[in-house]
Amino acid sequence: MCQTTAAVQPTAAGMKAFGRKTPSPTSSPSSKKHVDYTFPPAPATPSKISDHMSGILMTGDVTNTLLEVLFISVFFFVPPHLVPGSSMSPFQVGMFALAKSVFTRLYNAFQEAVFFAFPKGRTQPLAEHKLAKSGNDLNGRDKKQQDTLVAHDRLTLITDSVLNIILYLSVDGFYPGTAAVPQTFAERAARLVLNHYLMSFGMYWAHRALHVVPYLWRHIHSIHHYASTPLSRVTYQDHWFDNFGNAVVGQTFAQILIPLDLPTFVFSRLFRVAESLEKHSGHSSNWNLAHAIQFAWMPFAQMPHHHDWHHEGFKSCNYTFSSMGGVWDWVFGTRRAGRAANEGEPAGDWATKEDKVLNAMGRQPIVKSFMDTPICVVLPDVALGVAAAYKLWLCGGTVCAA
Ligand SMILES: [Zn+2]
Ligand SMILES: [Zn+2]
Repeated sequence: MCQTTAAVQPTAAGMKAFGRKTPSPTSSPSSKKHVDYTFPPAPATPSKISDHMSGILMTGDVTNTLLEVLFISVFFFVPPHLVPGSSMSPFQVGMFALAKSVFTRLYNAFQEAVFFAFPKGRTQPLAEHKLAKSGNDLNGRDKKQQDTLVAHDRLTLITDSVLNIILYLSVDGFYPGTAAVPQTFAERAARLVLNHYLMSFGMYWAHRALHVVPYLWRHIHSIHHYASTPLSRVTYQDHWFDNFGNAVVGQTFAQILIPLDLPTFVFSRLFRVAESLEKHSGHSSNWNLAHAIQFAWMPFAQMPHHHDWHHEGFKSCNYTFSSMGGVWDWVFGTRRAGRAANEGEPAGDWATKEDKVLNAMGRQPIVKSFMDTPICVVLPDVALGVAAAYKLWLCGGTVCAA
């Protein structure tokens, strides 16, 4: 299922649809720099606005929104005597869930506003953008695919909420309370970095498994890849098990193995939301706050142009699996330069050190290793799960720092 496809070539009809002239055959690569494109006029019978919205992020689906309100409300009404001693109070965890939900929606709207307001930052050039495909939404998905996503949005809301309620009530300190021993700024920073690299490790191997195991690709992860031209609303539009699995092997295992205290925990969750939305935003600029921080200060930054390339058809399906902190793609040999490989494209301005090294090495073939066999590719996450369970057992069922 992983195969290389040729890049889509610009056509005169496609260019006309976006109000652009067809480039002359003698155009130099640099003439493609910062291509602006406009959207085709609205059809005579426009589709409903909710057809273009994510049920989770953009409240396009009333049932999903009511479900989310219901699940957030549950936290406020948990009887205090059911809450483990070193966890957040019901009011605190309810306010945290509410704040995260509001932040996610606001940041999604912000990222999409930036995409439409600043066309120069868009990652994909006009010639390869799929918006002209009639009948599809802004992300290249047809009506049947949109309906499938609404159903999975609903299942994601239910399964993620149930997971969070179970973790809150059964794992003491998973949602850290205010009574924890105060940490210095240096300790918080060190724990935050280690926690995020561990989270990224779990999610790297889950993502790789979802691509290389045919059953997982066909029945689970291909749903997320309906979107060939991501916008931030695509972020959580997955099969419900994709979202659930990521929550377990990412944030859950990381919080048990390298726990964060209350302020760091809240910052980490909101930063992670921002990073996920930016990764799918379809643009690279300083408005990608989480990625601009990574680009400036972190090695192996994984930028929107990497994940955008990952979504384009199947041509990158073996590569760039990492989320935040692309170190794991570098370590395990699956890093590629993504859109920064193409000189003159907008993403070239955001090429990382590693992108430049990879570009200098030239085209690299698709290489599969023994780790891409169905048994081996899930082993790292199985090992993480065993380590998390063992640590919980050692600590008497609580999340402890030791
Ligand atoms: Zn993928
Ligand atoms: Zn994605």
